[in-house]
Amino acid sequence: MRIEEVADGVHLVRGSAVNWVLVVDGEAVTLVDGGYPGDAAAVEASLAAVGRAPGDVVAALVTHAHVDHVGGLAPLVARHGIPVLTSPVEARHARREFLEQAGPADVVRNAWRPRVLTWAVHAARLGALRQVALSEARGIAGGAPLDLPGRPVPVATPGHTSGHTAYLLPDAGVLVTGDVLVTGHPTSPHHGPQRLPAFFDHARAPLEPLAGLAADVLLPGHGPAWRGTPAEAVTQVSRREG
Ligand SMILES: [Zn+2]
Repeated sequence: MRIEEVADGVHLVRGSAVNWVLVVDGEAVTLVDGGYPGDAAAVEASLAAVGRAPGDVVAALVTHAHVDHVGGLAPLVARHGIPVLTSPVEARHARREFLEQAGPADVVRNAWRPRVLTWAVHAARLGALRQVALSEARGIAGGAPLDLPGRPVPVATPGHTSGHTAYLLPDAGVLVTGDVLVTGHPTSPHHGPQRLPAFFDHARAPLEPLAGLAADVLLPGHGPAWRGTPAEAVTQVSRREG
């Protein structure tokens, strides 16, 4: 686990396969995503590393309800009664009223690709095959700041999942992109802004919703922090995809 404070109070935590974000304002913390089931202890340790405890988390925001982003949240949320917030559609996904996630069959179909098998073994160790549901997840409206540390603004970015949501932290100039735009992944040979391999996406996400946002740091669901505007990142992705 590595923790980088990218802006005042905004910490990117990089687990062994996926990231989460801590936004600290005084005693209170907004947590964005929470890793694999096997990352639950690391999520707690990351809070301790920034001088906070699970009881200081006033809300857990979810970019999308894939097991690598909510698995580590589930025990924390259950134990401390932390509200789980995301878009209304993604809240239904988090409650597992439906599931939009690459399963073992998709992985097998793509196992010929370099790196996929190694990644799948590591992911399985972290609990990728466990059933996770956040039955208390609640839907919130996007487009306006939430009254939480970082004043996060939910930004609808459907595609990777139908209710995928990015979060803009307007005061810090930080955009949490989730998996709509990443900067690296164990299955990718590339570094820098990119989309995940298509088999991870429910549908290919248009990047236009990100391009106009005012930020100068991007925090992806996978890969390191990236310094630049969303518009520059989107241009790099388009160039890469030719
Ligand atoms: Zn992910």
